[in-house]
Amino acid sequence: MILTDTHTHLYSEAFDDDREQVIQNAINIGVKRFFIPAIDSSYTEAMFDLRDAFPENMFLMMGLHPTHVKENYRDELKHVEDKLASDTFYGIGEIGIDLYWDTSFLKQQQEAFRFQIRLAQQYKLPIVIHCREAFDEIFEILEEEKRDDLHGIFHCFTGSLAQARQAISYNLKLGIGGVATFKNGKIDTFLSQLDLKHIVLETDAPYLAPVPYRGKRNESAYLVNILAKLADIYNIDAAEIAAQTTANSKEVFGV
Ligand SMILES: [Zn+2]
Repeated sequence: MILTDTHTHLYSEAFDDDREQVIQNAINIGVKRFFIPAIDSSYTEAMFDLRDAFPENMFLMMGLHPTHVKENYRDELKHVEDKLASDTFYGIGEIGIDLYWDTSFLKQQQEAFRFQIRLAQQYKLPIVIHCREAFDEIFEILEEEKRDDLHGIFHCFTGSLAQARQAISYNLKLGIGGVATFKNGKIDTFLSQLDLKHIVLETDAPYLAPVPYRGKRNESAYLVNILAKLADIYNIDAAEIAAQTTANSKEVFGV
């Protein structure tokens, strides 16, 4: 069984004390492919270190996270452009709009999101979307920027069935993580109505740990708890879900 964590911040400070062990634990349990979303330029070196330490397992993305779109966002976008031109990446992410923490940079977030979608098209890479309290704003831009070759993942999907269908209509897979295991997470009530070919697994470590670790530091090894929940929701063998979601991740990232 090969599991793919399509969204994990293993370079985070949260893993500074035991990063190698955390990664080895995940690999030992079957999580062998890790897709690493960017946040901003301050983490780029740590991402490269991670890839150099585990070159077979780590696949990096490049991008500017919406909560890090601040006064200096044009410099940050230039950094994204420069890195894309000079190194290998498998996706543009995470990008999008977040109106939960701060709405004062909405205009800049919209501009950065649109700009990075166009970079993805230029480099023929998938996009990985972060959306928090911003479904309408995200869909508005996707509607304008959609093209046959635009594709990717709607990360940490927490919307309704209708919003899931809309995301899928833009060639996006739904990133399903710890929220699916939460009692009040809601998505577990309709997920089985969506074909598994639209689903990829993710932890978003160190955030959003699944039950029974809810509230604690999340780790990529906990992907098996999310897998078990999906096996339950779909009433399908966990091994089959592992195979299908890893195949889906290969379709998205081309590797
Ligand atoms: Zn993330």
